[in-house]
Amino acid sequence: MKALVKTDLGFGNLEIQDKEEPQAGKDQVKIEVKYAGVCGSDIHTYEGHYKVAAPVTLGHEFAGVVVEAGEGVTAFKPGDRVTSETTFYICGECAYCRSGDYNLCNHRKGLGTQQDGGFAKYVIARKDSLHHLPENVSFQEGAMTEPLACTHHAVSKTEIHEGDIAVVIGPGPIGLFTAQVAKSRGAKVIITGLTNDKVRLEKAEELSIDHVVNIQEQDVKELVNSLTDGYGADLVFECSGAIPAAKQGLDLLRKKGQYAQVGIFPEPEVQFDMEKVIQKEIRVVGSRSQKPADWEPSLELMNNGSVNANDMVTHEYAITQWDDAYKAIKDGEATKVLLTPVE
Ligand SMILES: [Zn+2]
Ligand SMILES: [Zn+2]
Repeated sequence: MKALVKTDLGFGNLEIQDKEEPQAGKDQVKIEVKYAGVCGSDIHTYEGHYKVAAPVTLGHEFAGVVVEAGEGVTAFKPGDRVTSETTFYICGECAYCRSGDYNLCNHRKGLGTQQDGGFAKYVIARKDSLHHLPENVSFQEGAMTEPLACTHHAVSKTEIHEGDIAVVIGPGPIGLFTAQVAKSRGAKVIITGLTNDKVRLEKAEELSIDHVVNIQEQDVKELVNSLTDGYGADLVFECSGAIPAAKQGLDLLRKKGQYAQVGIFPEPEVQFDMEKVIQKEIRVVGSRSQKPADWEPSLELMNNGSVNANDMVTHEYAITQWDDAYKAIKDGEATKVLLTPVE
């Protein structure tokens, strides 16, 4: 079968290879992939900023049909429509594994990073990571459960009250999902971006996010103040990973506001205004990836229409056209890009 493989670390080193079709072992299922999403981290991996266990087939966001259930698998059978959590291996023993925080296990191996992922015709997943797609969730939407679960994870780390003003910085797929999840919890959401993000800001309008702001054209602080009697925003979700955005986020928050860092910064040491954190008694939380408890609620958000994942897809390509897919993301033309396997 054809698979999109990161063959070695460093810049590039990505190619379509012929790989042997995998088989489901004990407690595993073999999934025929229908769609797999391209994540921002796949671009980082291409550029060599992200370390994966090369050679490895990429693709950690996918959905498909079970074609083979290994020994010990009873809850899933051939023909079932499924998606899988990215977790392929965890130690199962550390404090984090015991509390279900698999995203924090030091020994965790993920699909599409340390273990062959979904940019291929077939992928092997562990039964404990699988989820059935609910009736109203298509394969396309199912392939976006992982990024949605990441944002469900982030939003769940904050406390939202009906009518709270939440600012989401960065209108990429993660920002657009975060905005929708925050809205589903009763927040009024302002999403911000730059002139470069034109396509994505238009998408935010289409998704009926309450306020969509190009900060190069409109003063977001003025808007926040006008909506909050001058107090400032209740919550900020920083989803861009841009350093000036972190500063702005702290500035927009009210006293006792909540700041969640979701985007990944390009460099490890970022200037962060601790003085503001102290003076305003801001609560700062980080959010890394997702954990099992985020998956069923995310699927339900799509199933009941609270989150519109479908309209976020702007481009679809075959895995053999991965370079066009990556380019569409880099150029800011695309919001979410899905890949389909080839024979
Ligand atoms: Zn991802
Ligand atoms: Zn562990």
